Order: sequence, then structure tokens, then C-alpha cells
Amino acid sequence: MIYLDHQATTPLAPEARDAMMTWLDTADGSGFGNPHSPHRMGRQAAAAIDFARDQVAALLPAGGRVIFTGSATEALNLAMRGTRGRGGEGGAISVSGIEHSAVWDTAETLGKRHVLNVAANGQCNTNQSLPKDTRLVCVMQVNNEIGTIQPTVEWHRKAKAENALFLCDAVQSYGKIEVTGADMIAISAHKIYGPKGIGALWVRDGIELRPEITGGLQEGGVRSGTLSPALCAGFGAAAKEAKDRMAQDAEHHEDLWTLARDMFASNWALNGDEDTRWHGNLNVRRKGLDVSRLMSDCRNVMFSAGSACASGSGKPSQVLKAIGLSDEAAKNSIRIGWGRYTSREDLEKGVGEILKAANSQ
Ligand code: PLP
Repeated sequence: MIYLDHQATTPLAPEARDAMMTWLDTADGSGFGNPHSPHRMGRQAAAAIDFARDQVAALLPAGGRVIFTGSATEALNLAMRGTRGRGGEGGAISVSGIEHSAVWDTAETLGKRHVLNVAANGQCNTNQSLPKDTRLVCVMQVNNEIGTIQPTVEWHRKAKAENALFLCDAVQSYGKIEVTGADMIAISAHKIYGPKGIGALWVRDGIELRPEITGGLQEGGVRSGTLSPALCAGFGAAAKEAKDRMAQDAEHHEDLWTLARDMFASNWALNGDEDTRWHGNLNVRRKGLDVSRLMSDCRNVMFSAGSACASGSGKPSQVLKAIGLSDEAAKNSIRIGWGRYTSREDLEKGVGEILKAANSQ
């Protein structure tokens, strides 16, 4: 099998696995303490969590705290729901038209969702006005479907000038490019070769959050529930690895981007800007392409017709529609995403199979 779906999830890095094993393999009876217990075993587990928290924070701005959650979806919910009282209960939430469903649907559920326009090149620019009662602005850094990078520093500035908070979904950028400019930042371990089941919310100092999960008052009282030392340690180790090899990973992604871009040169159109994007995936369309048939013809190549969460819905991608594609053009699109452990040979073979099957339609 050839895995070309790294925006959906990534394989576990060996370094993350090793860090987790200490807390999973409890044969010597020492590694299973409750990190919230005051005795020695508990304190050891708590120390491992603090260590991991520092590793995760090392890729985030200074002047904030990291709250571990069960996923980035939970982190985004905590940020959006936990700041509800600010600026009045009913303030508007302004979200870019290309946000992940974790932001998009939550904003709708909370009411007063205002949609920020996105240009055909996949950029959500700051030259548009916010409703006067906006309490929160949400613009992601790197889009999960088309990879375009948003001007989050400018959005943060604009939100601040209008007395709103700025939340950045950095799930696809964290560990790959520098994450800057936000009041709150949501991240996820399984997108950076860490384990599934853990995410985090970074919160700028001075911002108070209302807890969404109440109970034992863990995570500063904002997110109750016993933390998993294994998941935290895996997340921390994955973050450390991403930090140490950021330049090397970027070079590898660039090399694979050039290869994939060349292979999809003729008859295919690129969705989203060519340059202002993370070069870890390609979202391309071809007129008349039957994507379901293509996927069943290429069973050994893992790629996607959109975000993993939405691809089962049969609906055209909201992201592609937001950048102006028709329903049909959106349905003619595929996403191919490579990663740290993808070889040139595998990419060439995988894309070769996709092209062969597409050409025979
Ligand atoms: N935001 C973006 C941009 C994503 O790509 C994803 C996952 O696909 C999420 C949020 C949700 O992350 P998690 O799987 O940790 O809930």
C-alpha cells in the first residue's frame, strides 16, 4: 500500500512510539501512576506530562499556556465555547469560508456565524470588514484540503483592533512552519507523527476560559479528566522531532511537491494558489473525473477526495466551493498528500497508478 493522505493523519514516528512505551509497558509496575496523584508514582507521571508540555510549547509562541485535550476538535470547541461570555453572550463569530468542520459547525451551533470571503487562489484576505459585534475571529493557518497559507498575523492584528479574540486552527501548520500571531491556537498530535487521541489548545496569558468539561479540575480547572501520560509523552516526542527536523522535512516536502506537480502537469488544474501554500499536498481537478471510480480502481493507493471527515458525505467540498468551484468541478477533485517517510519511488508509483486509472476513464 502507498499512503498519500498525510493531511488526514500521519504514521506514528518511532521516537514518539518509544516515548509512549515507558507509560504503556507497565511490566515493572512503575509506569501506570495517575498523574494527578500526589504520591511518587503520580509525581513521576506528572513530571513526564510537564516535560511533554514543554516540548509541545517549544513550537508555539511565548507568553501562553498549553492545555492538553483529546483532539484538536475538542481544543477548538473549548476555545470557541469557553470564551462565550466575552463581548456579550450573543457576539458574532467570523470564520473563513475554508475552515474545518470543527470550527465551521461549532460557529453555526453557537449562532451568529459570519463567513469571511476567500479568493479564488485560496486566500482569506483582511481587506473585508467584520460585523461590529464580532467577539471571535477564526482563520486557520494552513488549509487541510488545498494547503493555502492564510495571513494569520494580519488577522490577529485586525481582530485585536476590533476588540475581538483571534483563534487559529494550526492543525496542518504546527511542526511544519512557524506558528505565529493568535490569541488561541489549536493543534493535534496525529498530524505530526504523534498518537491519535490527543490535541492541545495554546492560550495567550491573560485570557480566561470557561471550562466545557467539569470534574477533577485538571489542566488548571479548564479541562477536567485524567490525562494519559503515554499520549502526552508521544505528542511531546513528536513535537521535538518536528522541531529538530523542520528544515529537513520542508526540503523533503519541496522535492516531492516538484515531482508530483510535474506528474500532474497536463490536463489537470491546481486548486488554490501555487506558491502561498504548504507544499505537502496537491489538490487537483480534471474535467469529467469520476473520483469514486478512480478510488476503487486504485485500491492500493491511499488518497482522498477531500477532508477525511467530509469525504464520506458525498457532498462537494465546502472549501473548494468557497474558492469558487462549481459543484461539478469540486467533485472532479482529488487530494494527494505526502509526508516525512514518503519516498520519491512511492510517490512516483502511487501517482503513476492514479494517472493511469484516470487516463483510462
Ligand atoms: N482542523 C484541521 C485543519 C484538520 O485538518 C483537522 C483534522 O483533520 C482538525 C482540525 C481536527 O483535528 P482532530 O482530528 O485532532 O480532531
